[in-house]
Amino acid sequence: MIEVKGLAAYNSITGLAPYSFKRNLPLSNEVLIDILYCGICHADIHQAENNYGNTVYPFVPGHEIVGRVKAIGNDVTKFKNGDLVGVGYFLGSCGHCPNCLNHEEQYCENGITPTQNGRLPGGETTKGGYSDSIVVNEDFIVSIPKNLDTARVAPLLCAGITTYSVLKYNLVKPGHRIGILGLGGLGHMAVKFAVSFGAEVTVLSSTSEKEKDAKDLGVHYFINTSDKDEVKRLIGSFDFIVDTVSAKHDINLYLRLLKKDGTLVLLGVPVDNPILGVGLLTSLRKKITGSFVGSIEDTQQMLNYCATKGITADVELISPDYINIAYKRMIESDVRYRFVIDMKKL
Ligand SMILES: [Zn+2]
Ligand SMILES: [Zn+2]
Repeated sequence: MIEVKGLAAYNSITGLAPYSFKRNLPLSNEVLIDILYCGICHADIHQAENNYGNTVYPFVPGHEIVGRVKAIGNDVTKFKNGDLVGVGYFLGSCGHCPNCLNHEEQYCENGITPTQNGRLPGGETTKGGYSDSIVVNEDFIVSIPKNLDTARVAPLLCAGITTYSVLKYNLVKPGHRIGILGLGGLGHMAVKFAVSFGAEVTVLSSTSEKEKDAKDLGVHYFINTSDKDEVKRLIGSFDFIVDTVSAKHDINLYLRLLKKDGTLVLLGVPVDNPILGVGLLTSLRKKITGSFVGSIEDTQQMLNYCATKGITADVELISPDYINIAYKRMIESDVRYRFVIDMKKL
């Protein structure tokens, strides 16, 4: 067994605190990773607060993990000691269903094993990356390109791949007009990728103070969604709208902003399901779709793409003892755009 130091929520209300636990030594096809950085995703906060009703405590969050290989099992072929590697939202899937065989493990028909609060075949709960080490099967690990700032890479493992795969599978290309709804951790990565794909990018946000930030990220237009006249002028404008907002909001407003055949992609999962104006879809053959993180293959492709384009997340690097303040600030949308924990300071 390996002694591990980490941070855990012991219940849904008192926040996170230091936690020591044990991990198994790597099996023949597993890799022991010394964790350097871990990003903080909104899902971490939802699970720490048991908002989905399935959190097992003590809960160790963290699925935007960057670290170095410390030891490998006998049959590992893809990695060697010292390699810079990453782990994202899941660290296992069945491997034999049609989606796994098609390299879309995130949609495994038998269910993925999430990196945090997941169930291992033996019934044990997975403990995530707010810790100093983790053991993962080599098939669920990606290589981190050397030329990128390592701390800024961590959020690419969830926020990055989630937005990259949406643009890839919707075949976004130069000339497309894209609206990005919400400018948080996901939204700012969606902006960076959409701009790099050559699309014309508009940020739709209810916070007018974000206009300068949006322009700094390279967006072409900024629309304040609380200005109803400004929004009306955009009816029928967009090929795609990427909706990153998980708070309750009117999706029909954004369906109106799509062109004929336009697509609204939902990434946030609101607790209350939205009310849908079906006529908005049928009248102009519009589509609504969703998307969930990305495959291991696409994650590696995304990281390689980021290395050639110099794309990383904008982050605020924090030490572990800042965690509860960081959570509070995230709930208040007070972060540009992702907190990353420096795990060496544990
Ligand atoms: Zn996430
Ligand atoms: Zn499967």
